[in-house]
Amino acid sequence: MKTDRAEIVVIGAGIVGLACAYYLSSRHRGNGVRIVDARSPMSLTSAASGENYRNWWPHPTMTAFTDYSIDLLESIARESVNRIHMTRRGYVLATRQADAAALLAQLKIGYGKEGAERVRFHVSGFSETYRPAELSDWENAPNGVDVIQDRSVIRQWFPSFDPEIATLIHIRRAGDISGQQLGALMLEHVRSSGGSLKAARVMAIEKGSEFVLTLQGQDGVEGLRADVVVNAAGPYAGDIADMLGEPLPIMNVYQQKIALADSEGAIDRRMPFSIDLDPQILDWTDEERATLREDGTTHWLTEPMPGAIHCRPEGGEAGKWIKLGWAYNRTPSKPRDDPAPDPSFPDIVLRGASRLHPRLKGYWGRLPRQMSHYGGYYSMTKENWPLIGPMETRGAYVAGALSGFGTMGACAAGALCAAWVHDAPLPAFASQLSLARYDDEKLMQQLLGGADTGVL
Ligand SMILES: Cc1cc2nc3c(=O)[nH]c(=O)nc-3n(C[C@H](O)[C@H](O)[C@H](O)COP(=O)(O)OP(=O)(O)OC[C@H]3O[C@@H](n4cnc5c(N)ncnc54)[C@H](O)[C@@H]3O)c2cc1C
Repeated sequence: MKTDRAEIVVIGAGIVGLACAYYLSSRHRGNGVRIVDARSPMSLTSAASGENYRNWWPHPTMTAFTDYSIDLLESIARESVNRIHMTRRGYVLATRQADAAALLAQLKIGYGKEGAERVRFHVSGFSETYRPAELSDWENAPNGVDVIQDRSVIRQWFPSFDPEIATLIHIRRAGDISGQQLGALMLEHVRSSGGSLKAARVMAIEKGSEFVLTLQGQDGVEGLRADVVVNAAGPYAGDIADMLGEPLPIMNVYQQKIALADSEGAIDRRMPFSIDLDPQILDWTDEERATLREDGTTHWLTEPMPGAIHCRPEGGEAGKWIKLGWAYNRTPSKPRDDPAPDPSFPDIVLRGASRLHPRLKGYWGRLPRQMSHYGGYYSMTKENWPLIGPMETRGAYVAGALSGFGTMGACAAGALCAAWVHDAPLPAFASQLSLARYDDEKLMQQLLGGADTGVL
């Protein structure tokens, strides 16, 4: 069997593997970094991403992680004259609750010690300073959080929202990027540093004084020897761990999105990424509800659904596409490369989103033909924190479980993984994002004790 050699093998050419290779290749030039993936780069989970980012989390560790990642994203945007199409209009969280005390308490926990300083209030009579940011002004958009309870301000800036909305929380360090451009830029950098991408699937890994990987490519079976293995196999990270003979606490939960041409202009092109925080019961006619209730497989559609349905315009002010998503599935499944999306999802997400955006009702029963429906796995731990750092096997590292935040978290995941491999200084939060956190019983109890895990 033909056998090649590289210093470091990164398994997976999704956004996380590419980011690991990008940050590793600054030190390992020449033939140092080899990425291995049988698929085209960025074509599995990374192709399904909504490509949104935010520094809003229910725990300061995750806030620090994404703030670090956004810092890195911003420096790439600056250096590349914004090739990654970074925008920063924020995330607008909408609720019908006028008493926002619980939400504010969560914000303050998530933003840690600086929590209170980051929040600005806009209540009746004191709201003249609130303005949504301009789409193109990602470098000068404000930081922090605006809490808007002045209904006249809500109506002024978000006239198409459900009139029952009583509180808006505008997270300002948030927006979207082009994940595909980011991945392409990273791969170019790896190649220009001497690294390469091998089109093959990793079938087996032998451990010894070095790793020997068995690869299945178009030309047959080959071997690849390496000192270091980085497991960035997305939904298959557990399979790679099995090859190394150790378990990883990762599960996969399928989530979906639709993108459609909003030819009726139901959604304002300048609207930030908007999230309806409130749980809801979907709006059916009595007849529809009765029919759905009769069938055991559709009964759930008449029961209360969780909040966090989201919508945003795609493609700037001149475009007409919008994206809708709702991560309501909670059931793990075995990953497949070609999972079939649930055909009822487009109707469900459209009905759900119409509660905050009543103008979307115009599409009920007549979804545009220009629509795409797709999905992918949230590869995640129970606590919804990523796993980045050494595996139990000496020389093996994992950068995975990036759930619904892998596009925004990729830069941090790559930089942290490279620092672990290089034994370089790490930020204070890094150890909590590695397997080491499972030794911290108090932290794990806190994370698994029913607290919000920030799944969006
Ligand atoms: C519907 C949806 C919406 C999302 N929206 C957002 C969002 O708005 N913002 C955000 O930040 N994140 C979002 N995410 C999450 C984000 O897309 C993922 O966290 C991220 O893409 C994961 O990247 P990855 O590189 O780990 O995995 P992947 O992109 O799946 O890449 C893994 C790669 O590993 C390869 N591989 C697997 N096994 C092997 C093997 N044995 N040998 C060789 N190669 C192998 C695969 O072929 C694949 O190419 C969303 C995800 C979904 C599903």
